[in-house]
Amino acid sequence: MDFSILVETFEKMEKTTSRLMLTDFLVDLFKKTPENIVQQMVYLIQGKLGPDFIGLELGIADKMVIKAIANSSGLKLSDINKIFSKTGDLGKTSEIALENKTQTTLISEDVSVERVYDIFNKISRSSGKGSQMTKIRLISSLLNDSLPNEGKYIVKFLIGNLRLGIADYSLMDALAIAFTDNKSNRAVIEKAYNQISDLGEVANKLYKNGIKSLNTIRIEPLKPVRPMLAERVLNPREALERGNNRVALEYKLDGERAQIHKKKDQVNLYSRSLENITSYYPELKKEFANKIKNNSIILEGEIVPIGAENNQIKPFQELMHRKRKHDIEKNLEKYPVSLFLFDVLYIDGDDVTDQSYLKRRKILENNLSNIETRKIRLIPNKIVSQEREITDYLDTALKIGAEGLMVKQTESVYRAGAREYAWMKLKKEYDADLVDTLDLVIIGALFGKGRRTGKYGALLLAIYDSDTDSFPSVCKVGTGFTDEVLETIYNELKKHILSHKHPRVSATPNMDVWFEPKIVLEIIGSEITLSPLHRAGLNSIKEGYGLAIRFPKFTGKIRSDKLPEQCTTTRELVEMYHEQIKKREIS
Ligand code: AMP
Repeated sequence: MDFSILVETFEKMEKTTSRLMLTDFLVDLFKKTPENIVQQMVYLIQGKLGPDFIGLELGIADKMVIKAIANSSGLKLSDINKIFSKTGDLGKTSEIALENKTQTTLISEDVSVERVYDIFNKISRSSGKGSQMTKIRLISSLLNDSLPNEGKYIVKFLIGNLRLGIADYSLMDALAIAFTDNKSNRAVIEKAYNQISDLGEVANKLYKNGIKSLNTIRIEPLKPVRPMLAERVLNPREALERGNNRVALEYKLDGERAQIHKKKDQVNLYSRSLENITSYYPELKKEFANKIKNNSIILEGEIVPIGAENNQIKPFQELMHRKRKHDIEKNLEKYPVSLFLFDVLYIDGDDVTDQSYLKRRKILENNLSNIETRKIRLIPNKIVSQEREITDYLDTALKIGAEGLMVKQTESVYRAGAREYAWMKLKKEYDADLVDTLDLVIIGALFGKGRRTGKYGALLLAIYDSDTDSFPSVCKVGTGFTDEVLETIYNELKKHILSHKHPRVSATPNMDVWFEPKIVLEIIGSEITLSPLHRAGLNSIKEGYGLAIRFPKFTGKIRSDKLPEQCTTTRELVEMYHEQIKKREIS
């Protein structure tokens, strides 16, 4: 398939801010895609080479790309650098350089989607001595044969700068329409995706064997399962009511969620956002490999930092020391961790997600209680049916440094990717009107003044609306940042700057800069108010009004473990608003 077909679609997508049109473009593209490359096509649209957990990364340095552009255009390095400093965009630089090519090759090969994918793959796999040269040679060969606009997208892809704004959600809609003529089949696609977290593989199966075949997709070790999430409850009474008056209590620990997969000798740990995090926790990998005798298993738990001398749980921030690529061995002893297991999804060839919480807990206890160590433990649990018992357990939880409680319905199954009341989070009842912190995604910024000149002075934040798959604005935040954190955020945001508002963002304020929604911050506020300006929960309380957070403040936590789609949702915000009103009526 000609790469130019994909490029045409990308160009159309880049020009639109309408999500529906994005989907239409994708449908057309899939209809033109031959069966044997639909899998690669899905990855390319996602801006990847495979599912996240495989970790096939390109991340090519600008310098290498500049050399390759020079090689293939015949222009001097200094000329390329000049164009780059003018445009500030390497993709555009490549396009201009190829338009002004001073050399043509006699023999050129077609640029097909297959070839582009194949070369990207080779680039990402080449490592070690001489790999830089190999990479430059591979990129040059591709750019040599490319038209200017093709070169632009090849470069954008290589440096991880595609920013098309396509959510998995739209991709799944497009797959359903293109291959089944029925958008409602998206639910079937999503269910399969939740099991194996690989949309390319799901699309391939859909194209080859039809929608029914997706029902046979099951979870399997070494492919992360989309994690089940919890709904918020406000007090023990609500938890009991929603749990049929008999619930299981567990501490809600504040650390990093991990899914542990073992298949024969292979052990991998995956994060909540489905990335492979094994290399950060070598001691946990070793412990699992040595201690677990089961042939295959998928477990879930929370990794928390603990004291080097005692077993006390330390604040979440301490985990940051363990997320550095260097000094892993050194930090391992200085900043030890414990993994508290709370679920089992798969064991010895059996998917047990359809079994009840109580049965899964039994399996956990039967297979793991005899291997408990300081590094790996089962989270304690308690089955209760009285409000008092919940209040007491919450007190204990807070004393040992937990965030609150997880209250779980005893008969609930594990539903991959679902956020429902089968799991409920109960935090301390605060005196302030706002019961909980919110996780909000950065969508825009205003430049700062005074000490913050040249940096951002205020960030525009959004919640996630799952019904429309969009990010409506909810507040501007400028407090709670240390200079150091502000600098980190500023540098992180550089990778996500856009030339216009992102198609999935809904906001009216004028901003100096817009971003691709990527970075999630934890925010505390004083109350939720009606707002004529912000779009979060628009019309859900009052016609023409959205909701906003009053006096928002950054808590210091960048939630790098959360995807933007996992931040606070419209439903949660509206519920928090109602609760706040209720609270005022009582007091
Ligand atoms: P939240 O991030 O506030 O939506 O809360 C859900 C998160 O709580 C999960 O993703 C886990 O990382 C974490 N968590 C801590 N303790 C537990 C537990 N006992 N059971 C389930 N999740 C837990």
